[in-house]
Amino acid sequence: MTRDGSAPASTDALSAAQAAYDAIRARGLKLNMQRGQPSDADFDLSNGLLSTLGETDLSMDGIDLRNYPGGVAGLPSARRLFADYLDVKAENVIVWNNASLELQGFVLTFALLHGTRNSAWPWVKGEAKPKFIVTTPGYDRHFLLLQTLGFDLVTVEMQADGPDLDAIERLAAQDADLRGILFVPTFSNPGGETISADKARRLAALRAAAPDFTILADDAYRAHHLGTPPETVNFVTLCRDAGHPDRAFVFASTSKITLAGAGLGFVASSEDNIRWMSKYLNAQSIGPNKPEQARHVKFLSSYPGGIEGLMRDHAALIAPKFRAVDETLRAELGENGEYATWASPQGGYFISLNTTAPVAARVVELADAAGVSLTPAGATYPDGQDPGNRNIRLAPTRPPVGEVYTAMSAVAACIRLATEEYRSGQGRQG
Ligand code: PMP
Repeated sequence: MTRDGSAPASTDALSAAQAAYDAIRARGLKLNMQRGQPSDADFDLSNGLLSTLGETDLSMDGIDLRNYPGGVAGLPSARRLFADYLDVKAENVIVWNNASLELQGFVLTFALLHGTRNSAWPWVKGEAKPKFIVTTPGYDRHFLLLQTLGFDLVTVEMQADGPDLDAIERLAAQDADLRGILFVPTFSNPGGETISADKARRLAALRAAAPDFTILADDAYRAHHLGTPPETVNFVTLCRDAGHPDRAFVFASTSKITLAGAGLGFVASSEDNIRWMSKYLNAQSIGPNKPEQARHVKFLSSYPGGIEGLMRDHAALIAPKFRAVDETLRAELGENGEYATWASPQGGYFISLNTTAPVAARVVELADAAGVSLTPAGATYPDGQDPGNRNIRLAPTRPPVGEVYTAMSAVAACIRLATEEYRSGQGRQG
Protein backbone atom coordinates (compact mmCIF):
# COMPACT_ATOMS: atom_id res chain seq x y z
CA MET A 1 0.00 0.00 0.00
CA THR A 2 1.23 3.51 -0.68
CA ARG A 3 0.83 6.56 1.51
CA ASP A 4 -2.43 7.69 -0.12
CA GLY A 5 -3.86 4.18 -0.12
CA SER A 6 -3.73 3.73 -3.88
CA ALA A 7 -2.16 0.85 -5.72
CA PRO A 8 1.65 0.97 -5.69
CA ALA A 9 3.14 2.64 -8.73
CA SER A 10 5.15 0.45 -10.96
CA THR A 11 8.70 1.50 -11.61
CA ASP A 12 7.60 1.57 -15.23
CA ALA A 13 5.04 4.29 -14.53
CA LEU A 14 7.65 6.31 -12.68
CA SER A 15 10.31 5.96 -15.34
CA ALA A 16 7.81 6.75 -18.10
CA ALA A 17 6.73 9.88 -16.23
CA GLN A 18 10.37 10.83 -15.65
CA ALA A 19 11.21 10.34 -19.34
CA ALA A 20 8.24 12.44 -20.45
CA TYR A 21 9.23 15.17 -18.05
CA ASP A 22 12.89 15.08 -19.10
CA ALA A 23 11.84 15.45 -22.75
CA ILE A 24 9.79 18.52 -21.92
CA ARG A 25 12.52 19.98 -19.78
CA ALA A 26 14.99 19.55 -22.63
CA ARG A 27 12.87 21.88 -24.77
CA GLY A 28 14.01 24.87 -22.71
CA LEU A 29 10.53 26.41 -22.45
CA LYS A 30 9.97 29.86 -21.04
CA LEU A 31 6.25 30.17 -20.33
CA ASN A 32 4.26 31.97 -17.70
CA MET A 33 0.93 30.79 -16.29
CA GLN A 34 1.35 32.61 -13.02
CA ARG A 35 -0.19 35.99 -13.55
CA GLY A 36 -3.87 36.83 -13.65
CA GLN A 37 -3.33 39.48 -16.26
CA PRO A 38 -5.05 40.32 -19.53
CA SER A 39 -3.16 39.56 -22.75
CA ASP A 40 -1.89 42.20 -25.14
CA ALA A 41 -4.81 41.30 -27.43
CA ASP A 42 -7.19 42.07 -24.55
CA PHE A 43 -5.48 45.40 -23.99
CA ASP A 44 -5.61 46.18 -27.70
CA LEU A 45 -9.42 46.25 -27.46
CA SER A 46 -9.03 49.33 -25.27
CA ASN A 47 -6.28 51.17 -27.14
CA GLY A 48 -8.93 53.66 -28.22
CA LEU A 49 -9.13 54.76 -24.60
CA LEU A 50 -5.71 56.35 -24.92
CA SER A 51 -6.86 58.88 -27.51
CA THR A 52 -10.50 59.23 -26.52
CA LEU A 53 -10.10 62.59 -24.84
CA GLY A 54 -9.02 65.39 -27.12
CA GLU A 55 -7.90 68.91 -26.41
CA THR A 56 -11.46 70.13 -26.53
CA ASP A 57 -12.80 67.64 -23.94
CA LEU A 58 -12.41 69.99 -21.05
CA SER A 59 -15.59 69.24 -19.13
CA MET A 60 -18.20 66.58 -18.50
CA ASP A 61 -21.56 66.94 -16.75
CA GLY A 62 -20.80 70.66 -16.58
CA ILE A 63 -17.74 69.94 -14.41
CA ASP A 64 -14.29 71.23 -15.37
CA LEU A 65 -12.09 68.16 -15.79
CA ARG A 66 -8.89 70.12 -15.25
CA ASN A 67 -9.71 71.67 -11.92
CA TYR A 68 -10.36 70.43 -8.37
CA PRO A 69 -14.14 70.86 -7.91
CA GLY A 70 -16.35 67.83 -8.50
CA GLY A 71 -16.49 66.04 -5.14
CA VAL A 72 -15.19 62.69 -3.95
CA ALA A 73 -17.92 60.41 -5.30
CA GLY A 74 -16.87 60.75 -8.95
CA LEU A 75 -18.25 62.34 -12.10
CA PRO A 76 -22.04 61.90 -12.34
CA SER A 77 -21.73 60.15 -15.72
CA ALA A 78 -19.18 57.71 -14.33
CA ARG A 79 -21.38 57.02 -11.31
CA ARG A 80 -24.33 56.32 -13.62
CA LEU A 81 -22.30 54.03 -15.86
CA PHE A 82 -20.91 51.88 -13.06
CA ALA A 83 -24.12 51.98 -11.02
CA ASP A 84 -25.71 50.37 -14.02
CA TYR A 85 -22.88 47.83 -14.13
CA LEU A 86 -23.48 46.94 -10.46
CA ASP A 87 -27.27 47.10 -10.78
CA VAL A 88 -27.74 49.95 -8.27
CA LYS A 89 -28.55 53.68 -8.46
CA ALA A 90 -25.91 56.34 -9.06
CA GLU A 91 -26.41 57.58 -5.47
CA ASN A 92 -25.19 54.19 -4.27
CA VAL A 93 -21.80 54.39 -6.00
CA ILE A 94 -18.44 56.03 -5.52
CA VAL A 95 -16.19 55.90 -8.57
CA TRP A 96 -12.62 56.34 -7.41
CA ASN A 97 -9.20 55.85 -8.99
CA ASN A 98 -7.40 52.89 -10.46
CA ALA A 99 -7.77 50.04 -7.94
CA SER A 100 -10.69 48.34 -6.26
CA LEU A 101 -8.26 46.84 -3.77
CA GLU A 102 -7.52 50.35 -2.56
CA LEU A 103 -11.23 50.93 -1.94
CA GLN A 104 -11.40 47.66 0.01
CA GLY A 105 -8.46 48.90 2.05
CA PHE A 106 -10.22 52.24 2.65
CA VAL A 107 -13.41 50.64 3.95
CA LEU A 108 -11.45 48.35 6.27
CA THR A 109 -9.22 51.18 7.48
CA PHE A 110 -12.13 53.57 8.11
CA ALA A 111 -13.94 50.80 10.00
CA LEU A 112 -10.83 50.08 12.08
CA LEU A 113 -10.28 53.74 12.93
CA HIS A 114 -13.85 55.01 13.20
CA GLY A 115 -16.16 52.00 13.20
CA THR A 116 -18.87 51.46 10.61
CA ARG A 117 -22.28 53.10 10.97
CA ASN A 118 -23.41 50.12 13.04
CA SER A 119 -20.32 49.79 15.24
CA ALA A 120 -20.38 50.47 18.97
CA TRP A 121 -16.68 51.40 18.76
CA PRO A 122 -13.87 51.49 16.17
CA TRP A 123 -12.79 47.99 15.27
CA VAL A 124 -9.24 48.56 16.60
CA LYS A 125 -10.68 49.42 20.00
CA GLY A 126 -12.18 45.96 20.59
CA GLU A 127 -10.62 43.88 23.37
CA ALA A 128 -9.67 41.10 20.98
CA LYS A 129 -8.04 41.44 17.60
CA PRO A 130 -10.70 41.90 14.91
CA LYS A 131 -11.36 38.84 12.78
CA PHE A 132 -12.52 38.53 9.20
CA ILE A 133 -13.70 35.56 7.20
CA VAL A 134 -11.97 34.70 3.94
CA THR A 135 -12.79 31.83 1.63
CA THR A 136 -10.27 29.15 0.67
CA PRO A 137 -8.92 28.48 -1.78
CA GLY A 138 -8.95 32.22 -2.28
CA TYR A 139 -7.17 35.36 -3.41
CA ASP A 140 -3.79 35.98 -1.80
CA ARG A 141 -4.18 39.78 -1.91
CA HIS A 142 -7.30 39.55 0.23
CA PHE A 143 -5.30 37.66 2.83
CA LEU A 144 -2.43 40.13 2.56
CA LEU A 145 -4.68 43.17 2.88
CA LEU A 146 -6.53 41.91 5.94
CA GLN A 147 -3.43 40.61 7.69
CA THR A 148 -1.49 43.80 6.98
CA LEU A 149 -4.28 45.79 8.61
CA GLY A 150 -4.12 43.56 11.69
CA PHE A 151 -7.04 41.18 11.19
CA ASP A 152 -6.93 37.53 12.17
CA LEU A 153 -8.24 35.42 9.31
CA VAL A 154 -10.95 32.83 9.76
CA THR A 155 -11.11 30.52 6.76
CA VAL A 156 -14.27 29.07 5.31
CA GLU A 157 -14.44 26.69 2.37
CA MET A 158 -15.45 28.05 -1.03
CA GLN A 159 -17.99 25.58 -2.41
CA ALA A 160 -19.38 25.21 -5.93
CA ASP A 161 -22.29 27.54 -5.09
CA GLY A 162 -20.37 30.03 -2.97
CA PRO A 163 -18.91 30.23 0.54
CA ASP A 164 -19.88 27.55 3.09
CA LEU A 165 -22.86 29.38 4.58
CA ASP A 166 -23.48 26.76 7.29
CA ALA A 167 -20.01 27.46 8.66
CA ILE A 168 -20.44 31.24 8.34
CA GLU A 169 -23.80 31.20 10.13
CA ARG A 170 -22.32 29.14 12.95
CA LEU A 171 -19.19 31.28 13.31
CA ALA A 172 -20.93 34.65 13.03
CA ALA A 173 -23.58 33.69 15.58
CA GLN A 174 -20.95 32.79 18.17
CA ASP A 175 -18.18 35.30 17.74
CA ALA A 176 -18.77 39.02 18.32
CA ASP A 177 -15.20 39.78 17.20
CA LEU A 178 -15.94 38.45 13.75
CA ARG A 179 -16.40 41.67 11.79
CA GLY A 180 -17.33 40.33 8.39
CA ILE A 181 -16.37 38.46 5.27
CA LEU A 182 -14.31 39.38 2.19
CA PHE A 183 -14.88 37.17 -0.83
CA VAL A 184 -15.46 37.12 -4.59
CA PRO A 185 -19.16 36.56 -5.41
CA THR A 186 -18.85 35.95 -9.17
CA PHE A 187 -16.30 33.64 -10.86
CA SER A 188 -14.17 33.58 -7.73
CA ASN A 189 -10.40 33.70 -7.71
CA PRO A 190 -9.17 30.95 -8.07
CA GLY A 191 -12.02 28.44 -8.41
CA GLY A 192 -14.45 30.34 -10.62
CA GLU A 193 -17.40 29.69 -8.27
CA THR A 194 -20.42 32.02 -8.29
CA ILE A 195 -22.56 32.44 -5.19
CA SER A 196 -26.12 31.13 -5.53
CA ALA A 197 -29.10 33.42 -4.98
CA ASP A 198 -30.05 31.36 -1.93
CA LYS A 199 -26.64 31.67 -0.27
CA ALA A 200 -26.52 35.38 -1.06
CA ARG A 201 -29.90 35.83 0.67
CA ARG A 202 -28.70 33.85 3.69
CA LEU A 203 -25.58 35.98 3.95
CA ALA A 204 -27.58 39.20 3.72
CA ALA A 205 -29.98 37.98 6.42
CA LEU A 206 -27.31 36.39 8.65
CA ARG A 207 -27.83 36.71 12.41
CA ALA A 208 -24.42 37.83 13.59
CA ALA A 209 -23.22 38.37 17.15
CA ALA A 210 -21.47 41.53 15.90
CA PRO A 211 -24.03 44.25 15.06
CA ASP A 212 -21.60 45.60 12.45
CA PHE A 213 -20.91 42.34 10.60
CA THR A 214 -19.93 43.56 7.14
CA ILE A 215 -19.99 41.88 3.73
CA LEU A 216 -17.18 42.98 1.42
CA ALA A 217 -18.07 41.49 -1.96
CA ASP A 218 -15.17 41.88 -4.39
CA ASP A 219 -17.07 41.53 -7.66
CA ALA A 220 -13.96 41.79 -9.85
CA TYR A 221 -15.29 39.28 -12.41
CA ARG A 222 -18.95 40.27 -12.50
CA ALA A 223 -19.11 40.64 -16.28
CA HIS A 224 -16.36 38.17 -17.17
CA HIS A 225 -18.45 35.25 -18.41
CA LEU A 226 -17.29 33.17 -21.36
CA GLY A 227 -20.74 32.14 -22.53
CA THR A 228 -24.08 32.51 -20.78
CA PRO A 229 -23.96 35.20 -18.09
CA PRO A 230 -24.45 33.88 -14.56
CA GLU A 231 -27.17 35.19 -12.28
CA THR A 232 -25.28 37.91 -10.46
CA VAL A 233 -26.45 38.92 -7.01
CA ASN A 234 -27.13 42.41 -5.67
CA PHE A 235 -25.95 42.57 -2.07
CA VAL A 236 -26.97 46.20 -1.64
CA THR A 237 -30.61 45.38 -2.32
CA LEU A 238 -30.52 41.99 -0.58
CA CYS A 239 -29.12 43.52 2.62
CA ARG A 240 -31.61 46.38 2.52
CA ASP A 241 -34.49 43.93 2.12
CA ALA A 242 -33.15 41.76 4.94
CA GLY A 243 -33.17 44.71 7.34
CA HIS A 244 -29.38 45.27 7.26
CA PRO A 245 -29.18 48.23 4.87
CA ASP A 246 -25.57 49.11 5.72
CA ARG A 247 -24.15 45.60 5.80
CA ALA A 248 -22.68 45.29 2.30
CA PHE A 249 -20.02 46.98 0.21
CA VAL A 250 -19.61 45.74 -3.36
CA PHE A 251 -16.37 46.46 -5.22
CA ALA A 252 -15.35 46.20 -8.85
CA SER A 253 -13.02 47.85 -11.32
CA THR A 254 -12.18 48.08 -14.98
CA SER A 255 -8.77 46.42 -14.45
CA LYS A 256 -9.94 43.38 -16.43
CA ILE A 257 -12.19 45.41 -18.72
CA THR A 258 -9.93 48.17 -20.06
CA LEU A 259 -6.39 48.52 -18.68
CA ALA A 260 -5.03 46.60 -15.68
CA GLY A 261 -4.24 48.93 -12.81
CA ALA A 262 -4.92 51.90 -15.08
CA GLY A 263 -8.68 52.03 -15.07
CA LEU A 264 -11.31 52.85 -12.48
CA GLY A 265 -12.23 51.20 -9.19
CA PHE A 266 -15.69 51.71 -7.77
CA VAL A 267 -17.80 50.69 -4.79
CA ALA A 268 -21.54 50.34 -4.21
CA SER A 269 -23.34 50.47 -0.89
CA SER A 270 -26.28 52.09 0.87
CA GLU A 271 -26.59 55.85 0.44
CA ASP A 272 -25.75 56.27 4.14
CA ASN A 273 -22.59 54.21 3.70
CA ILE A 274 -21.66 56.26 0.62
CA ARG A 275 -21.91 59.38 2.80
CA TRP A 276 -19.92 57.64 5.57
CA MET A 277 -17.12 56.77 3.12
CA SER A 278 -17.22 60.16 1.39
CA LYS A 279 -16.66 61.93 4.70
CA TYR A 280 -13.38 60.09 5.27
CA LEU A 281 -12.29 60.13 1.63
CA ASN A 282 -12.86 63.87 1.59
CA ALA A 283 -10.35 64.28 4.41
CA GLN A 284 -7.61 62.64 2.42
CA SER A 285 -8.35 63.66 -1.16
CA ILE A 286 -10.07 66.53 -2.91
CA GLY A 287 -11.39 64.01 -5.38
CA PRO A 288 -10.53 61.28 -7.89
CA ASN A 289 -8.88 61.72 -11.28
CA LYS A 290 -11.68 63.20 -13.42
CA PRO A 291 -10.03 63.04 -16.87
CA GLU A 292 -9.57 59.28 -16.31
CA GLN A 293 -13.25 58.95 -15.44
CA ALA A 294 -14.31 61.06 -18.42
CA ARG A 295 -12.31 59.02 -20.90
CA HIS A 296 -13.68 55.76 -19.52
CA VAL A 297 -17.22 57.10 -19.83
CA LYS A 298 -16.61 58.26 -23.39
CA PHE A 299 -14.78 55.12 -24.47
CA LEU A 300 -17.09 52.56 -22.84
CA SER A 301 -20.26 54.35 -23.98
CA SER A 302 -19.08 54.49 -27.56
CA TYR A 303 -17.73 50.90 -27.71
CA PRO A 304 -20.11 48.80 -29.86
CA GLY A 305 -22.49 47.23 -27.36
CA GLY A 306 -20.97 49.20 -24.46
CA ILE A 307 -19.30 47.30 -21.61
CA GLU A 308 -21.23 44.16 -22.56
CA GLY A 309 -19.91 44.37 -26.11
CA LEU A 310 -16.36 44.82 -24.88
CA MET A 311 -16.73 41.84 -22.53
CA ARG A 312 -17.97 39.71 -25.44
CA ASP A 313 -14.81 40.60 -27.32
CA HIS A 314 -12.69 39.67 -24.30
CA ALA A 315 -14.57 36.38 -23.97
CA ALA A 316 -13.76 35.53 -27.59
CA LEU A 317 -10.07 35.88 -26.72
CA ILE A 318 -10.17 34.15 -23.33
CA ALA A 319 -12.58 31.23 -23.90
CA PRO A 320 -10.15 29.33 -26.22
CA LYS A 321 -7.50 29.54 -23.48
CA PHE A 322 -9.82 28.03 -20.88
CA ARG A 323 -10.64 25.31 -23.42
CA ALA A 324 -6.92 24.73 -23.99
CA VAL A 325 -6.39 24.06 -20.29
CA ASP A 326 -9.36 21.73 -20.01
CA GLU A 327 -8.65 19.80 -23.22
CA THR A 328 -4.97 19.30 -22.43
CA LEU A 329 -5.60 18.17 -18.87
CA ARG A 330 -8.31 15.73 -20.01
CA ALA A 331 -6.11 14.34 -22.75
CA GLU A 332 -3.02 13.96 -20.59
CA LEU A 333 -4.37 13.16 -17.15
CA GLY A 334 -7.68 11.47 -17.92
CA GLU A 335 -10.98 12.31 -16.33
CA ASN A 336 -11.13 9.86 -13.45
CA GLY A 337 -9.18 11.93 -10.94
CA GLU A 338 -6.23 9.53 -10.90
CA TYR A 339 -3.82 12.46 -10.95
CA ALA A 340 -5.89 15.59 -10.47
CA THR A 341 -9.30 17.21 -10.55
CA TRP A 342 -9.95 20.69 -11.81
CA ALA A 343 -12.79 23.12 -12.27
CA SER A 344 -14.11 24.17 -15.68
CA PRO A 345 -15.41 27.65 -14.85
CA GLN A 346 -17.55 29.50 -17.36
CA GLY A 347 -15.86 32.81 -16.61
CA GLY A 348 -13.35 34.72 -14.53
CA TYR A 349 -9.60 34.56 -14.87
CA PHE A 350 -8.48 31.33 -13.22
CA ILE A 351 -8.75 27.58 -13.15
CA SER A 352 -8.22 25.85 -9.83
CA LEU A 353 -6.62 22.41 -9.94
CA ASN A 354 -6.25 19.94 -7.09
CA THR A 355 -3.68 17.19 -7.32
CA THR A 356 -4.93 13.84 -6.03
CA ALA A 357 -1.71 13.17 -4.13
CA PRO A 358 -0.37 15.94 -1.86
CA VAL A 359 2.21 17.13 -4.39
CA ALA A 360 1.25 20.69 -5.39
CA ALA A 361 4.54 22.19 -4.20
CA ARG A 362 6.54 19.53 -6.06
CA VAL A 363 4.52 20.14 -9.25
CA VAL A 364 5.25 23.87 -9.13
CA GLU A 365 8.93 23.12 -8.48
CA LEU A 366 9.13 20.68 -11.41
CA ALA A 367 7.28 23.11 -13.70
CA ASP A 368 9.62 25.92 -12.75
CA ALA A 369 12.64 23.75 -13.56
CA ALA A 370 11.04 22.98 -16.94
CA GLY A 371 10.56 26.68 -17.70
CA VAL A 372 6.85 26.99 -16.86
CA SER A 373 6.15 29.50 -14.15
CA LEU A 374 3.05 28.75 -12.04
CA THR A 375 1.45 30.59 -9.13
CA PRO A 376 3.41 29.47 -6.04
CA ALA A 377 1.85 26.45 -4.36
CA GLY A 378 -0.03 27.50 -1.23
CA ALA A 379 -0.73 31.02 -2.53
CA THR A 380 -4.46 30.34 -2.42
CA TYR A 381 -4.34 29.85 1.36
CA PRO A 382 -3.43 32.30 4.15
CA ASP A 383 0.30 32.48 4.93
CA GLY A 384 0.96 30.49 1.77
CA GLN A 385 0.10 27.27 3.62
CA ASP A 386 -2.18 24.87 1.77
CA PRO A 387 -2.93 22.23 4.43
CA GLY A 388 -3.52 19.57 1.78
CA ASN A 389 -0.60 20.61 -0.50
CA ARG A 390 -2.96 20.02 -3.41
CA ASN A 391 -4.20 23.30 -4.84
CA ILE A 392 -2.65 24.98 -7.89
CA ARG A 393 -4.02 28.16 -9.46
CA LEU A 394 -3.72 28.20 -13.23
CA ALA A 395 -3.83 31.57 -14.93
CA PRO A 396 -4.23 31.10 -18.69
CA THR A 397 -5.28 34.62 -19.79
CA ARG A 398 -1.92 36.28 -20.41
CA PRO A 399 -0.08 33.91 -22.83
CA PRO A 400 -1.25 33.33 -26.40
CA VAL A 401 -3.43 30.23 -26.79
CA GLY A 402 -0.66 28.13 -28.38
CA GLU A 403 1.52 28.71 -25.36
CA VAL A 404 -1.32 27.69 -23.05
CA TYR A 405 -1.47 24.28 -24.79
CA THR A 406 2.31 23.84 -24.48
CA ALA A 407 2.41 25.02 -20.87
CA MET A 408 -0.46 22.75 -19.85
CA SER A 409 1.17 19.73 -21.49
CA ALA A 410 4.24 20.47 -19.44
CA VAL A 411 2.18 20.96 -16.26
CA ALA A 412 0.44 17.63 -16.88
CA ALA A 413 3.82 15.93 -17.20
CA CYS A 414 4.90 17.52 -13.91
CA ILE A 415 1.72 16.31 -12.20
CA ARG A 416 2.26 12.76 -13.46
CA LEU A 417 5.89 12.72 -12.35
CA ALA A 418 5.21 14.26 -8.93
CA THR A 419 2.38 11.78 -8.37
CA GLU A 420 4.41 8.76 -9.45
CA GLU A 421 7.31 9.89 -7.27
CA TYR A 422 4.95 10.18 -4.34
CA ARG A 423 3.32 6.83 -4.98
CA SER A 424 6.61 5.08 -5.32
CA GLY A 425 7.70 6.52 -2.00
CA GLN A 426 10.40 8.67 -3.48
CA GLY A 427 8.33 11.82 -3.17
CA ARG A 428 10.04 14.98 -2.16
CA GLN A 429 7.19 17.01 -0.74
CA GLY A 430 9.06 20.32 -0.53
N1 PMP B 1 -9.99 41.38 -6.82
C1 PMP B 1 -9.79 40.19 -7.39
C2 PMP B 1 -10.62 39.02 -6.99
C3 PMP B 1 -8.77 40.04 -8.34
O1 PMP B 1 -8.55 38.83 -8.88
C4 PMP B 1 -8.00 41.16 -8.70
C5 PMP B 1 -6.91 41.07 -9.73
N2 PMP B 1 -6.15 39.93 -9.72
C6 PMP B 1 -8.25 42.37 -8.07
C7 PMP B 1 -9.27 42.46 -7.15
C8 PMP B 1 -7.46 43.59 -8.37
O2 PMP B 1 -8.32 44.60 -8.81
P1 PMP B 1 -7.88 46.12 -8.93
O3 PMP B 1 -6.88 46.23 -10.02
O4 PMP B 1 -9.16 46.84 -9.21
O5 PMP B 1 -7.32 46.52 -7.59
